[in-house]
Amino acid sequence: MVHADAMGSEESTPDTRVGLGTDVHRLALGRSLWVGGVLIPADRGAVGHSDADVVLHAVADALLGAVAAGDIGELFPDTDPSLEGLDSAIIVQAARERVVAAGYHVGNVDIVVDLERPKLRPHRDAIRQRVAGLLGLDVRRVSMKAKTAEGLGAVGSNEAIACQAVVLVSRTR
Ligand code: MG
Repeated sequence: MVHADAMGSEESTPDTRVGLGTDVHRLALGRSLWVGGVLIPADRGAVGHSDADVVLHAVADALLGAVAAGDIGELFPDTDPSLEGLDSAIIVQAARERVVAAGYHVGNVDIVVDLERPKLRPHRDAIRQRVAGLLGLDVRRVSMKAKTAEGLGAVGSNEAIACQAVVLVSRTR
C-alpha cells in the first residue's frame, strides 16, 4: 500500500537529478571514427545511421534520462533517411534543450569509453573541450576516461566501441 504522503510532489523532490546513457557501435574499415565530436585517426570507424559517435549518443541519452524525456531513438529515428550521416552534436543540442525546457541545467558529466585501439588518451582533452562546448560547461565539469577490454569480447577484438555517460542536472532558479 502506498501512503499518500509518500508519493511526494515536484516541490518536495530534490533539486538534482541524475541521468545515465550508454551506447555501442560496430567498427568497420572505411568509416570515420568520431568520438565526442572529435575525429580520431584510426584504420576503423564506427558504423551507424548518423555519424555513429558513441560518446555524443550516450551523453544525449543521459541528458534525456535525467529529465525523463525519453531517448534519442524517439527524437532521431534510425528509419528517417534525412538523418543519415547526421552530426551527433545536433542530437546533444536537442537533448540539452529538453533539459532546459524541463527547468534544469547540467552540472557535470562523466564519460567512460571502451575502445581497444587506438588509444584515446591523447585525444581526451580535445573530447572534453568539445563536449563542454556543446553543453555550455566549463571543461572542468566534463570528465572522460578511456578503457580497453583487455582483449575480451567485441570491444577487445576491436569490433566495437562502447560508451557510458552519467550527468547530473539541477533545477534552474
Ligand atoms: Mg548510437
